[in-house]
Amino acid sequence: MTSPIDVGILGATGVVGQQLASLLDGHPWFRLSWVAASERSAGRRYGDLPWRLPGLVPATAARLTVSPLDPDNAPVILFSALDAGVAGEAETAFARSGRIVVSNARNHRLDPLVPLVIPEVNAGHLSLLDAQRRERGWSGAIVTNPNCSTVFVAMVLAALDGFQPSRALVTTLQAVSGAGHPGVSALDILGNVIPFIPGEEEKIERETRKILGRLDNGGVADAAMVLSAQTTRVAVHDGHTALMSIALDRTPSIEEVADALARFRGDAEVSALPSAPAAPIVVATGHDRPQPRLDAWTSGGMAVTCGRLRRCPVLGYKLVALGHNTIRGAAGAALLNAELLVSRERRLRATQAEAVAWPAEARAMDPLPGTLSPV
Ligand code: NAP
Repeated sequence: MTSPIDVGILGATGVVGQQLASLLDGHPWFRLSWVAASERSAGRRYGDLPWRLPGLVPATAARLTVSPLDPDNAPVILFSALDAGVAGEAETAFARSGRIVVSNARNHRLDPLVPLVIPEVNAGHLSLLDAQRRERGWSGAIVTNPNCSTVFVAMVLAALDGFQPSRALVTTLQAVSGAGHPGVSALDILGNVIPFIPGEEEKIERETRKILGRLDNGGVADAAMVLSAQTTRVAVHDGHTALMSIALDRTPSIEEVADALARFRGDAEVSALPSAPAAPIVVATGHDRPQPRLDAWTSGGMAVTCGRLRRCPVLGYKLVALGHNTIRGAAGAALLNAELLVSRERRLRATQAEAVAWPAEARAMDPLPGTLSPV
């Protein structure tokens, strides 16, 4: 047993920040010891601010005083759930100050030196951190997770990698919690579908290609796959649905596609992480599933549920994928990335390897006390 690792949240008061505080409550490796948000919230007790998740604000978090975005006293590992308007500069400042920022925000995702990671899909992209540290001169680091719809799309396409996906059409039906708080006005969304979410279609198309890309010459060469996305906001509380039509270069049967989805796994290190679902993709058998209200919480919100797998007369195969947008699409995705970083660091230390270890300054403020053995 080792002591818990202190972690903090930037943007702790928002939809994703609260979900992170909730997931960190009782976490086996991490202890939430620091929270930060805007000047509006700074100086206030976290437990006195509005809590928008079911149940009470976790007791450990409730006692914390909200800090401004100032690296002084911040722990080494920080989750970022900051509004994109401030995340870019703030995350850079924290990385420069030796912090390892595990971010939900869009700002750094497409930076060629920043890993955009789904542990089951492209854990190897963490090796970009070497070049990031060298070229940016940061004593800390930034690692990002994808946009909340991209993660589900990329997981499905990664699971079908053996059949060589070449093109995909994606139409999303996205929950209102994906727009933050207070988000979309009730008058706009009730009884309605809004066929435009700024920047969302481009994120799905571009981020997916980076995630599925391969390491090449110190960077990531995007996957050649062609994607076309249409995104809509619907009056669902939690859970983004993605209707996907996919062209595969190979010609598997529907049963073989279903089997590939159900058997999809990360490597052994990823599967052993505390927040990793036993099966990252669950194939629903009911003809009318997945549904946000019934399936978004599958495996604590960390699994993608796929259903309605059938032939598509245009691209060959089609299916419906669904995931919890603030868990696997945001807070849970960042948590899994942080667990992967810690697991990898422990493994590297145990084997005395020198590659991809944490920055020296981060080691100096060592959050991993004692002699560690591989997880
Ligand atoms: P949100 O509810 O609007 O929360 C935004 C957070 O940023 C709040 O803690 C807010 O603090 C803080 N903030 C805003 N302006 C600030 C400033 N000038 N200085 C310091 N802090 C500031 O947003 P969200 O939905 O949680 O999303 C957070 C991030 O995750 C965004 O970048 C978003 O794009 C991304 N994301 C969201 C989802 C989702 O499903 N919601 C999914 C994937 C990614 P105050 O409360 O003090 O204003």
